[in-house]
Amino acid sequence: MKQFDAAIVGGGIAGLVAAIDLAQAGKSVVLFERARELGGRAISVKKNGAIFDLGSHAIIKGGALHEIFQDLGIRMEGGSPGTNVSFLWNNKVTHMFKFLLSQNLSWSGKMEFIKFFKTLTKFDVDSVPAISLRSWVEQKFSDPMTRHIIYAMLRTNSYAQAIDHQLAGPALRSIARTTQKNSIIYIQDGWQTLVDQLYDKAVRSGVSMITGKNVTEIEHDGIVRKIKFADGQEMDVTHVISATPPAVTSRLLGDAACNSVLRWKEQARVIGAASLTLSLKRLSAPDHFAVLGLDQPVYFINQSKFTRLSEDGTSVVNITKSNGTGGTDAKADERFLERTLDLIQPGWRKEVVARQYLPNIAVAYDFMNLGREDRFPGPAVPEIAGLYVAGEWATHGENLADAAAASGRRAARRVLKDMEAVRKSGRETIVV
Ligand SMILES: Cc1cc2nc3c(=O)[nH]c(=O)nc-3n(C[C@H](O)[C@H](O)[C@H](O)COP(=O)(O)OP(=O)(O)OC[C@H]3O[C@@H](n4cnc5c(N)ncnc54)[C@H](O)[C@@H]3O)c2cc1C
Repeated sequence: MKQFDAAIVGGGIAGLVAAIDLAQAGKSVVLFERARELGGRAISVKKNGAIFDLGSHAIIKGGALHEIFQDLGIRMEGGSPGTNVSFLWNNKVTHMFKFLLSQNLSWSGKMEFIKFFKTLTKFDVDSVPAISLRSWVEQKFSDPMTRHIIYAMLRTNSYAQAIDHQLAGPALRSIARTTQKNSIIYIQDGWQTLVDQLYDKAVRSGVSMITGKNVTEIEHDGIVRKIKFADGQEMDVTHVISATPPAVTSRLLGDAACNSVLRWKEQARVIGAASLTLSLKRLSAPDHFAVLGLDQPVYFINQSKFTRLSEDGTSVVNITKSNGTGGTDAKADERFLERTLDLIQPGWRKEVVARQYLPNIAVAYDFMNLGREDRFPGPAVPEIAGLYVAGEWATHGENLADAAAASGRRAARRVLKDMEAVRKSGRETIVV
């Protein structure tokens, strides 16, 4: 196989950003993706004229992905729901403002919520100590309903259903951005348009991309030496970014072979979700376009209200149940999502044009939580010179795809720094 300065394993957002950054810095780069298409969890699929992302996907303006994509010249056209949402409580959907004025909140609860909301954009997230979300919320809010609302907002943003583990600071930073005007963008024609633009950018930057290529081993002796593939081929390499989940990277190294990666794998708490996307001919309750569950961990969004996702005017809607870090029953989740949709869009079953149910999809392979021994995994793997990690799990405080993009850029920058150090020292490789 041809020689490259760097190889990337995994062609999701993290791998693509890393590949483009390295190629734009003048390095020769090859990217290997196991699937037939690039994009990982950011792909979209077409069904009966409608475009479905893998669960509803939104970009937050001012987040890492938005900034990196702007920097790369990736267009992010779409629409925003604003903060005009409804709440689902006790099997009833009520508009947020009406709910806040109701008896559901005490007078002091109403005041607490208004004050929180008004100050959120100016909130000094860095001053929040390393405590759990529950500890932070319980210190700040006395009204139980205000707490429910704050938890629901934060859960919708991260899909994490782990208030005793999730770190308050990163969660609040992310929610603070969403309260700014038109800060949430649902992408016109789906996230595939972003993946396609990343692909074009990578090609124009000179990245070689090989899909349908399953990497089975990263061979090393304290220094990266080779990548091996399922088809028996192998390639000599000196710099590898593994933009795959920590369990995959660990397996590629032969599990027990590397303490840091093994620890990252073992400390990881996967955030799972059950997600039902539908294209519907008609909506019985068009005013219910964004609904946050307060007593149930669900979020409903009619993305078609804000952006184009179908060729024939059908509405693409999504309802997702956050499953936290625990196991789940796929059939029970599906029935739960369908019953909940009966409350939000009664009669929807007669209107279905296309449907996609993802029973237990990983939204994140890890997130910022108190149980993390290494709070900031990567980008370099300390024991193996030339090996780096990326992926949304390798977050240094960013949320979901923001973390994917940020970790890809972090890894690429570290590779460039290490290459430069080697060049200056006149040695053949980095010293660990
Ligand atoms: C239901 C749902 C809703 C979401 N909503 C949002 C949202 O609203 N906003 C947001 O910011 N994020 C959202 N996300 C998260 C977002 O999709 C992910 O954070 C992001 O796509 C992860 O990118 P990645 O590159 O880290 O990983 P991935 O996309 O998983 O890419 C990893 C790639 O590595 C490849 N690979 C694995 N093993 C190998 C191997 N051995 N050899 C070669 N290739 C390999 C895989 O095939 C895959 O393509 C959501 C996710 C889900 C599931």
